[in-house]
Amino acid sequence: MRRQEKRKKFVFIALAILLIISIPLCSIRVLYASKEMNEKDVVDYTNVKPVVLDRNDNVVFENDTLVDYTAYGNTIGLPGFMDNALISRYYDELKPANVSPIWGYRTLEQEPRVMETTLLNKEMQLAVAEAFGGKTGCCFAFNYETGEIYTALSLPEFNPNNPDTSYINRCFDSTFIPGSTMKVITTALAVDQGLDLSSITHYCQGYETLESSPKPIDCTGRHGTIGFSDAIGLSCNCFFAHVASLLNVDQALATLKEMGFNTTPSQEAEPEYIDRFIKKGSSVNIQGNTSFSDVWSFVGQGEDLVNPCDMAMIAAAIVNNGKTAVPYAVEQITNPNKKDKVLYTIPEETQYVNLLSPATAKTTKETWKAGVDKHYYNSFQRLSEKIDYAKTGTAQIDTENGKIRNKTLIGVIEKSKTAFYIVIEDFEDGGIMPVDVANRLAEVLPVAQPVTEEAAAE
Ligand SMILES: [Zn+2]
Repeated sequence: MRRQEKRKKFVFIALAILLIISIPLCSIRVLYASKEMNEKDVVDYTNVKPVVLDRNDNVVFENDTLVDYTAYGNTIGLPGFMDNALISRYYDELKPANVSPIWGYRTLEQEPRVMETTLLNKEMQLAVAEAFGGKTGCCFAFNYETGEIYTALSLPEFNPNNPDTSYINRCFDSTFIPGSTMKVITTALAVDQGLDLSSITHYCQGYETLESSPKPIDCTGRHGTIGFSDAIGLSCNCFFAHVASLLNVDQALATLKEMGFNTTPSQEAEPEYIDRFIKKGSSVNIQGNTSFSDVWSFVGQGEDLVNPCDMAMIAAAIVNNGKTAVPYAVEQITNPNKKDKVLYTIPEETQYVNLLSPATAKTTKETWKAGVDKHYYNSFQRLSEKIDYAKTGTAQIDTENGKIRNKTLIGVIEKSKTAFYIVIEDFEDGGIMPVDVANRLAEVLPVAQPVTEEAAAE
């Protein structure tokens, strides 16, 4: 009993002494810490800006400046200017931590935090941008096996030194009328409903009359009797108007929803994301398959609005057994001030989404490929042989200054495991086409590395 009390007394005294000693020690430490911090340090602290690397570890952003605004202005952006761009979207991970009042100078971050991206290097981005020939538009391209975004180029570029600068990235912030790039999707709808594509033919006389509309659907030509692959290759509107009439509309809308479309556009859509980019969703407004507007929607005009990322992902799923890796641009963010502590990293396992059944993807892919092989590698379509799948589109747009035409292109480059969507706005006859941009893209893309041991063994 006595012994226990003695021990208690001893512990109490020891704690009291520790407390008495620690108060002045901590006070001295705090005073010392604030003394260590001088004005220059504070300025340095506020000046430590992050560094961003391209996929080859080249520095493309440092000291709040991009190496090139055409190449990265709308993707990486600048804080305070481009909100829907990487620097702003990852601001919390990239800004230096506050200096600790206890540990002072030691906690001052002097090394910039490092963001590693999947983006192509400056020269490649500029090569693709140059192919636009001064036109506005965008090019989204990503690896559908890994999810790496190679480019999300948007023109005109964001450039703080240019008064006519653009503050959006068309790949994420915009939707476009798809034009005939929608025909690839309508093909998938037909396959998904069990229609036998090889048996469907239609007579194209240059226009298609509709029962419930005085206005006919005009065609791009007079194709005569035509089947599925040729109708894709030659972009026959009459054929696809006929296909629309064969579809079960409810089932088509369900499949479109699976593919990522908002099929009830009157409803407020949930925000969508690609990496941390906020993405505008794709939508259709289809009520049936007999009215001019509804039939036109299955052909690619009507009220369809597509986002370039969504379309590239659908192209990917068609050639990749119905699934695609989810695109991302930021690989990792590290803090060199803390022994390269990882502040952000992608999940170890690749993230996939299924947009189509493997069987639907397979038949759609084969039908599309047959059309491309027959009609795209010629002087009219001028598609590079490096590109395996492509479908062109033209969209008529009413603007304040009259009608303009946008040109669109959906496609896949198998060697690089890359799916892409390209838009050129306000096309002029004889001018630059999205296919010129795609051909350039195919030149600069890296050849994809096998991602599994199985693939490596093949
Ligand atoms: Zn036709």
